[in-house]
Amino acid sequence: MDGEALSLKIQEEIKQKLKNCMIRPSVAVIQVGSDPASDSYIKRKEKACSAVGVYFRHFKFEDDTPELTIINKIKELNNDEYVNGILVQLPIPERYNEKRILNSISNSKDVDGLTDINTGRMINGRKTLVPCTPLGVMRILKEYEIPLEGKRVVIVGRSKLVGKPLFQLMLAADATVTVCHSHTVDLPSITKEADILICAAGVPKMITEDMVKKDAVVIDVGINRVDGKLCGDVDFDKVSKKASYITPVPKGVGPMTVAMLLENIVTCYENKPVTK
Ligand code: NAP
Repeated sequence: MDGEALSLKIQEEIKQKLKNCMIRPSVAVIQVGSDPASDSYIKRKEKACSAVGVYFRHFKFEDDTPELTIINKIKELNNDEYVNGILVQLPIPERYNEKRILNSISNSKDVDGLTDINTGRMINGRKTLVPCTPLGVMRILKEYEIPLEGKRVVIVGRSKLVGKPLFQLMLAADATVTVCHSHTVDLPSITKEADILICAAGVPKMITEDMVKKDAVVIDVGINRVDGKLCGDVDFDKVSKKASYITPVPKGVGPMTVAMLLENIVTCYENKPVTK
């Protein structure tokens, strides 16, 4: 499944939509500390924003910045009518109260869909902003016309960014969902039952051929660097011979996350979410 091609198609649609806008949508990215992976993710987001005509503002704070200074900047951006979306690049250094910082983002500008209010709205099936990576997974499955209703979906990973929201989205799509994590006993016996297996654990190539049912759909969210090379959580070379569909790493879910961020920014710009 080609996430890169689909992402470019979505980006082109957004570019066309924004072509004649008098005032461009804008997004503000808050970065705290200096994590090299975050630097590269932010660069990628900036490039995609400028390619479609979204104004990108980057606020970088040293990791000794008082939490209140960061929250005050977010509040200032909340009140700036020319800022449509705000996101805090995760992870932030551990000594900060991540929840407090995320929850200071206005719910209507929360392009990562991570405030408690937006999370609650999603759980209750209300219209809201949804985290970009799970949205990207749902979108790629839709593009390839993979049916979800009644299917057995297994998600490996229960993070707030990926596993938990995916669980809600899959449930809403009438799949039967199992979520696994680091305490799950006999993981292979569960993954082998999956019609659709989604791995977001951050463990290189942990999903091996013997853990996958023949003709399963396999979505690899993991991004790991091994010996300087990117790889996912799935042993792609072997599993791809057994799966009916599989996403590669890179060029799978990663580009879809960026495309969904752009869609969320446009949603905020058009003031679509019914959330205050
Ligand atoms: P995370 O917060 O570290 O969560 C990892 C999850 O995997 C946890 O729930 C953990 O269980 C579980 N886990 C870890 N080792 C496991 C094992 N051996 N067996 C079963 N479960 C295991 O990570 P994340 O933010 O969700 O990210 C996961 C991966 O996706 C990373 O590689 C990250 O780089 C990648 N990612 C990619 C994108 C993208 O755009 N493609 C976006 C976000 C993240 P516990 O809860 O028990 O600890």
